[in-house]
Parts: sequence; structure tokens; C-alpha cells
Amino acid sequence: MNLILLGPPGSGKGTQAKLLSQHFQLNHISSGELLRQEVVQNTPKGKLIAQIMNQGELVPFDTVLDLILKQINTSPNGFILDGTPRDLSQAEHMDWFFNQNHIHLDTVIYYQLDDPTALKRLANRAREENRSDDTPQIHRERLRIYHQKTQPVIDYYQKQHKLVTIDARPDIDTIFANTLKLIPSK
Ligand code: AMP
Repeated sequence: MNLILLGPPGSGKGTQAKLLSQHFQLNHISSGELLRQEVVQNTPKGKLIAQIMNQGELVPFDTVLDLILKQINTSPNGFILDGTPRDLSQAEHMDWFFNQNHIHLDTVIYYQLDDPTALKRLANRAREENRSDDTPQIHRERLRIYHQKTQPVIDYYQKQHKLVTIDARPDIDTIFANTLKLIPSK
């Protein structure tokens, strides 16, 4: 089974991706996490990525693609793509790649959350973890970019009849139970 998870920063899609990957034995591919791993290597490329991430902007897609394709190609049971696609051109590119490689995308799960709740959660997470891209100003910028660029991706998958929408306001266990109900059984 191959899934894509969409939702604003703070929607908890990373947490749900972890739970789903354990439940269905899928490879959890988080583009943000893969990029953060590049950053800690402190290579020239890593430093460039850090600069972009610290402004809440999108990293050039060829860099992201390199990292996620390696993972997709080593996912025998299927994958959960978390954090990609971030805009329409990424979505179209992923479709093209899936077609070329006879990969079937089963479902796109959209975790819907309002901005005030997303901002509150991001502020809490910034206190708990120590992510360098976690300041209130960057949170607002990431949400702005999300609305501008990622929101159209939701309509794109809706038109393909791949999208299921989940309310991301309740607690983690409730969201997970609701997610399982909406995933077509295999
Ligand atoms: P995330 O952990 O998914 O919230 O991503 C953290 C940051 O990584 C984002 O704010 C972007 O700067 C970068 N990023 C993650 N995925 C992508 C992507 N598919 N395309 C471009 N930038 C990305």
C-alpha cells in the first residue's frame, strides 16, 4: 500500500505517519526529516538546505526528489510519503514517476486543521523539541506558503478521487482510529 499524507504544519501528520507505518509495515518517508539529516552532515549542500529551511521556504525539488526516490525504491511493502508533494508541480512530477514505475498510489490522507490551532501546536513543539526552523515568525511563514502552494495539491487529488479528509483537532489516538476507518482495507 502506498499513501501520501497532506496537512498544514502542526496537523500531526508526522505522528500519524509513524503510527500508520508501524500498523501497516510501510516505509515512512518524511522529506523534512531526510532534509534535516542532510543539514546535520554540515556539508556545503547541507548548509544551503539549512538556510532555506530556516526561512520556512521550500527546498529545490531536485534535492528533495533525490532523497525520497532512494527511499521509495527500497520500500518492499509500500510507503507513506509525508511532507511531499508541497506544490502542484511536485504533485505532477510524483504522478509521472508513479506511472513510469507502475506504482499505484492508494490514498491521499488530508489532515485538516485551522491556522490558530496549528500555530498553538507549533509553539508547543518549539518548546519541547529544539528545531532550528521553529520560531513564531517561521511558523507564520510556513503556514502562508502552505496555503499558497500546498493547498492546491488538495484539490488536485480530490479531482483524482484519491483524497480522504480527517479532522486533525482531536487527540492522537482518536485521529489514528478515524484514519484507519477511512483507509480502504487491503
Ligand atoms: P516538514 O518537516 O515536512 O514540515 O518540512 C520542514 C521543511 O523542509 C519545510 O519547511 C521545507 O523547507 C522543507 N521541505 C520538506 N519537504 C519538502 C518538499 N517536498 N519540497 C520542498 N521543501 C521541503
